Amino acid sequence: MSVFRVADFVATMALKSDGRDCGGEHLEDIAPLAFDSVNTRRKNSRTVADALLDNSWLRDLGPELSVEGWAQCIRLWDEIELVDRDASRPDRFTWPGSIKGAYSAKDTYRMLCLGQEEFSMYKPIWHSFAPPKCKFFVWLALRYRLWTSDRRHRHGLQDRSAACYWCLQDEDNLDHVLMRCPYARQVWFGCITAAGLNIVEPNRDSSLESWWSSARDLVRRRDRNSFDTLVILIAWQIWKQRNARVFGNTNLQFSTAQMLIHIKEEFGLWRLAKRGEEYQFARE
Ligand SMILES: [Zn+2]
Repeated sequence: MSVFRVADFVATMALKSDGRDCGGEHLEDIAPLAFDSVNTRRKNSRTVADALLDNSWLRDLGPELSVEGWAQCIRLWDEIELVDRDASRPDRFTWPGSIKGAYSAKDTYRMLCLGQEEFSMYKPIWHSFAPPKCKFFVWLALRYRLWTSDRRHRHGLQDRSAACYWCLQDEDNLDHVLMRCPYARQVWFGCITAAGLNIVEPNRDSSLESWWSSARDLVRRRDRNSFDTLVILIAWQIWKQRNARVFGNTNLQFSTAQMLIHIKEEFGLWRLAKRGEEYQFARE
C-alpha cells in the first residue's frame, strides 16, 4: 500500500507522535485531541497499513473524545481522503528533511541548523591545512571560549582579571592577548612582512575575527588557504607563549625574533604535512 509522506523512523506507526502524514503535517497537529486519546501501546504497535485498512484508526480513539476531538477527526479523515494512494504498492519510506525524500546526514544536519546563525569563519578554518587541534583552538578563540583570566573571572574561577602577562597594560583577555598586545602585534607584523603580504597588521582595536575576515579579502584567492593557515599558526603560537608565561615555563618563552623563526619553521612543516600539494607563499 503506497501511503503518503511518512518519516522513515516511524513509517510503520499510524498515530505515533513523530509520524508525518498528510502532506507533511503532523497527525498531532491536525487532530491533537484525537491523537492524545489513543493509548501509547496502540500508538507504538499500529502500522500505517493497518490503520488505513477499513479506517480502523477510528477504533483506536479513546472513549471520551470530546465534540471538538471528533471535529478534528473529521478534518483528519478529509486529509487522509485527499491523499492519493495506491493500495497495491507497498509503503514507501521518505525523509522530510530532503527534497528527494532520501535520508542523508548532510540534509539532516542542514535541517537541524535551519534558522541558526551561520559561523562566518568556518570555511577559512575548515579549508586551511592547520592540524585539527589548531583548527579547534582557533574556533574556540573566535567564540571567545579560551580560558583567559577575564573569562575565568566571569565564571567565578578567580577574584579578578589578571593583567596581560607580557605588557601589564591591559587585562588578560582574548583580543588583547592574540591581537592587541605589543608583543602579539610585533609577531603579526614580522610574519606579515616576512610573507610579503600587502595587508595592515592588527592594531590596538583589532579583534581576531574582524581583522582576519577583512585581511583575507586582500589576499589573492589562490593564496587564501595558506594565509588562513598562517593566521591560525600565529594565533596558536601566541597563545602558547601566553601560556608559557602564565605557567612560568621559561624554557618555552620566546622573544619576538625567536617566534618569527619558530613560526617560519612550523609553517614549513605544516606545508610539508599537507599531502601532495606544494604551495608558494613568499614574495614574488
Ligand atoms: Zn599585553
